Amino acid sequence: MDMKNILIINAGSSSLKYQLIDIDNESVIAKGLCERIGIDGSVLGYKSNKGNTEIRRDMKNHEDAIKMVLDVLVDEKVGVIPDMSGIAAVGHRVVHGGEKFSESVLIDDDVIKAIEDCIPLGPLHNPANLMGIAGCRAVMPKVPMVAVFDTAWGQSMAKETYMYGLAYEAYEKYGIRRYGFHGTSHRYVTQRALKLLGTDKAKVITCHLGNGSSVSCSKDGRCVDTSMGLTPLEGLPMGTRCGNIDPAIVPYLMKRADMSAEQVDAYMNKKSGMFGISGVSSDFRDLWAAANEGNERAKLALSMFALAVKKYIGSYAAEMNGVDAIVFTAGIGENDRGVRELVLKDMDFLGIDVDFEYNQSCPRGEEVELTKKGSKVRVFVIPTDEEMAIARDTAALAR
Ligand code: AMP
Repeated sequence: MDMKNILIINAGSSSLKYQLIDIDNESVIAKGLCERIGIDGSVLGYKSNKGNTEIRRDMKNHEDAIKMVLDVLVDEKVGVIPDMSGIAAVGHRVVHGGEKFSESVLIDDDVIKAIEDCIPLGPLHNPANLMGIAGCRAVMPKVPMVAVFDTAWGQSMAKETYMYGLAYEAYEKYGIRRYGFHGTSHRYVTQRALKLLGTDKAKVITCHLGNGSSVSCSKDGRCVDTSMGLTPLEGLPMGTRCGNIDPAIVPYLMKRADMSAEQVDAYMNKKSGMFGISGVSSDFRDLWAAANEGNERAKLALSMFALAVKKYIGSYAAEMNGVDAIVFTAGIGENDRGVRELVLKDMDFLGIDVDFEYNQSCPRGEEVELTKKGSKVRVFVIPTDEEMAIARDTAALAR
C-alpha cells in the first residue's frame, strides 16, 4: 500500500492535536488543534499551505473532533487531500504503556485493552488517548492505526535502575517503579545524535528541557536511565513541577499545612518549580527578564534548574562510564542560550570544550554543534519532533 500520508493524533481530555505528514519527504502538510471538546465554544484551528482557518462548531466528543479534522483536510478551499483514502495510517501518541509496551505497536482490540489496563498509571492521559483512538476507529475503521508510547523508551532500563527503594511489594502489587516519559523525544534526538556522530555505538545524554523537563541517557541507542519516574513529577524542577524532593515532605505538608493528598499533588505539580520558586512565571523568557532586572528569586530558579541538569549529566556520565555526546532539545534546550551556558560552564573536567561565544550567537531552532573541533565530548542542539517520530513508526508498522 502507498504509505504517503500519515495522520498523527495527540488527544488530551478536552483537546486534540493533529498533523498530516507526508512520510515520503517527511514534511508536514497540515496541522492544527481542536480545543474545548465536550465544552461550550469548541473550536478547530487548521494550518496548511493551502490556507489557514478556524472553525467554531460544537464537538461533543473526540469522534466529532476527528470528523471535523477529516472534513477540513478534504475541504475544497483549504484541504490538502482529495478524499479520506488519502490517509494511509494513523499514529496515536499514548502516554502510559506500563510494562506492556517497549515499542510502538499496531492497534487492535488487545492493545486497546492493554492501554485500558494502564489507566491507573496514567489516569489523566490514557483515557484521553483512548478516546482519540476510539474516535478514529469509528470514523475510519479500515485505516491501520499505531500506538506510540511515551514510556516505551524507558523499558530498556535495568531493574536496579527502575526500582525504587520502597518495599518490593509496592512494585509487585501496584506497579510502582520508574517508567520515564518524553521517550519519543529522547529517542528521536538520540537517533539524530548517533547520525551526527556517524556511529550506532555511543553513549548519549539527552536533555529535553521544556515546560516539562527530563534528562535521559542511552548506550548504542537504548535507554539506560531517565529522570522521570512513576509519574512525570520526578527529576528536574520544571515549569510548575517541583521535581525531586525528600518524599517525607509529602506527609509533613499534609500534617503541617493540613493539606489533602489531592492538594499536595496539585501543590507539587502546579504551584512549584520555576513558577513557585520565582513567584514570577513558569516561562523561562519571563524568568530571564525578571532576573535581568535584579529579581533574586527568578535568578535562584534559573540557577536551581541549571544545577539540576548539570547533576544529571554528571551522574549519567558516571553511570555509563563516559559520554560521547550531550543533546539539548525542546523549548528551553533549543532556545535558551543562558540556561545552556549555566549548565555547560565548568564541565571541562568531562572533556567538553564548548564554544560559549557560538552558544550565544547560534541560530535558534536549528540543529547546531556547540563544541569546538576536537572536543572529546560533543554537545549538540537538536530540535525535537515527536510527531515525525510517531509518523516514522506508524509508516513502518502499517506497511
Ligand atoms: P516546550 O514544552 O518544549 O514547548 O517548551 C516551552 C517552554 O520553552 C516555555 O515555557 C519557555 O520556558 C521555553 N522557551 C520557549 N522559547 C524560548 C526562548 N526563546 N527563550 C527561552 N525559553 C524559551
